[in-house]
Amino acid sequence: MLSVDEARARILDGVRLTDAEEIPLDRCLGRVAVPGVRAEIDVPSFANSAMDGFALRAADAPGPLPIAGEVAAGRGDLPVLAPGTALRIMTGAPLPPGADTVVPLEEATEADGQVRVPAPLSPGRHVRGQGHDTRFGEELLLGAPMAAADIAVLASIGVARIAVRRRPVVAILSTGDELVPPGEPLRPGAIYDANAPALAAAVRDAGGEPLALPPVRDAADDTDERLRDAAARARLVLTSGGVSVGRHDHVRDAIARLGSLDLWRISVQPGKPLAFGSIDGTPVMGLPGNPVSALVTFELFARPLIRAMLGLAGDGRVHLPARAQQRMPKDTPRRAYLRVRLAHAGRGYEAQASGGQGSSQLRALSAANALLVVPEGIPAAEPGESYEAIVIGGME
Ligand code: AMP
Ligand code: MG
Repeated sequence: MLSVDEARARILDGVRLTDAEEIPLDRCLGRVAVPGVRAEIDVPSFANSAMDGFALRAADAPGPLPIAGEVAAGRGDLPVLAPGTALRIMTGAPLPPGADTVVPLEEATEADGQVRVPAPLSPGRHVRGQGHDTRFGEELLLGAPMAAADIAVLASIGVARIAVRRRPVVAILSTGDELVPPGEPLRPGAIYDANAPALAAAVRDAGGEPLALPPVRDAADDTDERLRDAAARARLVLTSGGVSVGRHDHVRDAIARLGSLDLWRISVQPGKPLAFGSIDGTPVMGLPGNPVSALVTFELFARPLIRAMLGLAGDGRVHLPARAQQRMPKDTPRRAYLRVRLAHAGRGYEAQASGGQGSSQLRALSAANALLVVPEGIPAAEPGESYEAIVIGGME
């Protein structure tokens, strides 16, 4: 069986970037800008005041200086500051020609139309110089995926549309004769399809565009037909279920029949039976059916693959050391990803099981804010010992 790291390396091998598309600024949240965006103006494009106060020449301190007028933010036709005078100035207003410093209101004393200021004053105080934030021609290093501050940077240089990586379309196929979509009555022996909605959300969160398709029957012909169709319509096909060794598990054989099967079975818990290959050049990942297995293997293998298509490295998660608060057994020598709740403890973090660790026990995954990585070969996470935690949720 392949290790998690070997399997991930194979899955990421030869991944192709999606092409670029241009979108308006208000659609940029969470998107990945194509590198090489350059500023075409200085920001600010003129020297301006950082405070409400008085613009003057530092050499004229302490005054008193006659207040010769006012400059408000947004003003284009600037008065010239005559030597030996001051101009009232507002935050963000252009520094008038002749002035070299700003004295904040709090430091100034006004009387009879004159102002006294502290002395000595150094030129440039409380003045935001041209290009103080961004310089013309500078390459912008935007966060990826873009957050509110990145959108602010783009807006500040006047950009209204920007080239981003197209979100890869990811087809999602649940398999199983037992599956019923949420919202419909449950017939005897049936269960609700938890994976398709969950995987669609996980795809979106990773930066992809989910293409939700109806569930696939547990039959070889239906599996072949639906996989071929999905491969033609998407950049990546994710299936869930039907990859194990049961008599009605058809996904692995279908991938091998229709294309090529690159790997099957990974030394991981949960999620051992994952299958990966390609059909007509489209990568196909057969995730295990148990919902916890499906989502944890999505996290470990599909999320980095979707990100790689966007030009992003890694899983985009915080990894940090956390001490186990209790003994958490794992029932195989495989590397385990336990569902835990992290909490601050002193300067570090402690991890506690967030519920039952069975691969169908979704509630523990829902309650978890991290996966605790318990290495190969040991039987349990031991209390007080430190393990790598992958932060997948928020923390109080
Ligand atoms: P399989 O690998 O197809 O045998 O599925 C393993 C287990 O996961 C079985 O108990 C299935 O009923 C369950 N399962 C498979 N797909 C889903 C799904 N989409 N939603 C909820 N449970 C599922
Ligand atoms: Mg099944």
